[in-house]
This record gives sequence, C-alpha cells and structure tokens, in this order.
Amino acid sequence: DSKHRARNGWQMFTPELARRQQDRMQIETQLRRAVDNEEFRLVYQPQVDLRHGRVVAAEALIRWQNHQLGELRPDLFISHAETTGDIVRIGSWVLREACRQVAEWRDQGLGIVRVAVNVSYRQFVGEDLAEKVRSLLIEFDLPGSALELEFTERVLIEDAPATLRTFADLRAMGVVLTIDDFGEGYSALNYLRRLPIHGLKLSQLFTEGVPNNRSDVAVCQAVSAIARSLGLGLVAEGVESEAQRQFLLQLGVPVGQGFLFAPGLSPDEFARRLDTPLERASIA
Ligand code: C2E
Ligand code: MG
Ligand code: MG
Ligand code: MG
Repeated sequence: DSKHRARNGWQMFTPELARRQQDRMQIETQLRRAVDNEEFRLVYQPQVDLRHGRVVAAEALIRWQNHQLGELRPDLFISHAETTGDIVRIGSWVLREACRQVAEWRDQGLGIVRVAVNVSYRQFVGEDLAEKVRSLLIEFDLPGSALELEFTERVLIEDAPATLRTFADLRAMGVVLTIDDFGEGYSALNYLRRLPIHGLKLSQLFTEGVPNNRSDVAVCQAVSAIARSLGLGLVAEGVESEAQRQFLLQLGVPVGQGFLFAPGLSPDEFARRLDTPLERASIA
C-alpha cells in the first residue's frame, strides 16, 4: 500500500540522496585544486579516414586521477565544473596541454597532426577564447590548422553577444571549428548557415543504431545530407563495429572515431599508432 511505499521510499531514498550530495560536494572540493595538483591528463582518440583507416586527427579527452575519488570520467565531473565555473581554468589547462603535445609531435616529425579540443560553453562567456588561442599558437609556434575546437549546441543556445565574433576570429586564424554531438541537442538548423564552422560530429547516439535501427539510419542519412549540401565536414562518433563502418562509408561519411579503431590513447600510444597504419592494426 501507499504508506508502505512511502516508508520504503524514505529508507531507500534518503541515504542514497545524502550520499550523492556528499559525492557532489567532494567532487567539487577536489576539482577546485585539481589543476594545481596536476591531477589531469589527456588521452588522444584517433579520427580516421573510414576508407582505409589513416589517422587524420586526434581528439583530446580529459582524464582525472584523484587520490580520494580514483579515476573519474569526464561525464562525471565536467558538468560540476561548468556549474562552479572551474571549467574555465580546467579548459585553459586542456587547451595549453593539447597545443604543447601537438607541437611536440610535429617537432618529432610525426606528420599530421591536428588535435581537437572540447570547449565548454562557459569558455565562450566573459573569456577571450580567441585571444587565448592566438597566444598559444604563437607560444608553441603552431599554425591555426593544427587545432580544432569542438563545441556543443549549448554554446549557441547561450548566445553570448561575443560568440559570433569569437568564431570569426578563430576561423580567421585557421582554427577548425566543429559542432560536437550533432543531433543530440536543440539542432536549430538556422545557425548552421550563420556560423563560420567547418564540420559536424554525428552523435554516437545515432551511430549506435546503424545499420539495423530504422530511425537511427534515417537520422544518419539526414545529417550526412545536411553536411554534404552545406559543404561541411562530418565525423561519425562511436564507431564500434565493421558493420557500422561499412554503412557510414556507403552514406558518404568520410571520417569516423570509435572503439573499432582505438579508444583514447596515451601520447606515446598515439604516436605509435601514427607509425602503424590502422588498416593493418584494426581494419581487416
Ligand atoms: P565527446 O566529446 O562526445 O567525446 C566522445 C566520448 O565518447 C568520449 O568519452 C570517448 O571516450 C567516447 N567514445 C569514443 N569512441 C567510442 C565508442 O566507439 N563507443 C562508445 N560507447 N564511446 C566512445 P569521454 O572521454 O568519457 O568524454 C565524455 C565527454 O566529456 C566528451 O564527449 C566531452 O563532451 C566531455 N569532455 C571530455 N574531455 C573534455 C575536455 O577536455 N573539456 C570539456 N569541456 N569537455 C570534455
Ligand atoms: Mg568531443
Ligand atoms: Mg561527441
Ligand atoms: Mg558526448
């Protein structure tokens, strides 16, 4: 009966809620010091040409190792960092580290490489992101084309007055601009015409269901058609199987990223993958 459920509800719910609240406070306290304590590192996931597996770029993904909390995935702490504002410092660290790393790879003669960095909407607000990027490119002697910035549709929803200007400045430097997780969010097609972006990343929400789920297939086809007709690049996220690779290839999606090719790799592992063509390493 309802009384029983209510009592059960209390017994089950309160400690759980309290624990979660405590977890959250602990995460936020530890986050504040994490940059200074050098608890972050970046791993690099290859983006590959779906035809033959050649690596075309790397996406930098943050990892957090904390003495109390262990290793935390970004999905667990990025949103906290956005709430507290710590994401601005963390994001600056990520940008700097990614630039340092790609400059090192280039100095080692490893050819390519472009590194894609995830940028939070908070880094667009009250922050001169374009100036920050400009000085990093100078410091590490990099062309703008060595850097790609991935942002989500959230940036466009916030619609900070300076955002369009920031995009224009970054583009003028040659920095590659991409909308991440495309299709998951608010997807006003209107902004695709107005923004000086280069490409879209098809959300793994939709890659996941191909080639069998009919509505996922439809979304992938639609996004691919939009990208093609607007002259935008397209990267499929979350490619896990050969069947998915084949399907996306047939759709005309040029580039993919996912566990079929590699997870996020340490810098050394990534450099080794550049030496070993993925067509031999992964694709039969
Ligand atoms: P994202 O930018 O969409 O990154 C892709 C996520 O999908 C990564 O999770 C990656 O490890 C995972 N992934 C890659 N291939 C596959 C696959 O084949 N199958 C499946 N199931 N997953 C795959 P990760 O590293 O946990 O990052 C999660 C999210 O956290 C990222 O999603 C991004 O939004 C955010 N994030 C990561 N690093 C940063 C950062 O430095 N700054 C900011 N602001 N956000 C970050
Ligand atoms: Mg991303
Ligand atoms: Mg994504
Ligand atoms: Mg995502």
